[in-house]
Amino acid sequence: MLSDFKNFLLKTNALALAIGVIIGATTGKVVSAIVDDLIMPPIALVMPPGDWRQAQIELSKAKDADGKVTVNAIKYGHFAGATIDFVIIAFVVYVVSNKLLPREKPAETKTCNECLETIPKAATRCKFCTTQLFA
Ligand SMILES: [Zn+2]
Repeated sequence: MLSDFKNFLLKTNALALAIGVIIGATTGKVVSAIVDDLIMPPIALVMPPGDWRQAQIELSKAKDADGKVTVNAIKYGHFAGATIDFVIIAFVVYVVSNKLLPREKPAETKTCNECLETIPKAATRCKFCTTQLFA
């Protein structure tokens, strides 16, 4: 029973997935800190003054028995803010992943003189026509 559970955790990559989720959540906090603390303040200088994220077109207003007011509105300020946040966060993720993740170089190849197939550059014999190749 216990070894079955251990096998389940290891063979279904459940632990790896859990680690990925935890790392992802932590990375998300770092990215939002980069955006909120480092990138948004300079951008706020060129944004229109005032709380533009609260901008909305009010469609109707209702007051319930307790006196609580419910506003039905098109909240275009919130929508625009979420869109701008997404673009900035996506750009930061793009830049960070570009800098941190290694680029995979394409394998070096050459063309066989006999059959014109593409083969590894270091090959001494063609894998397609078995011609001996000389450097
Ligand atoms: Zn060949």
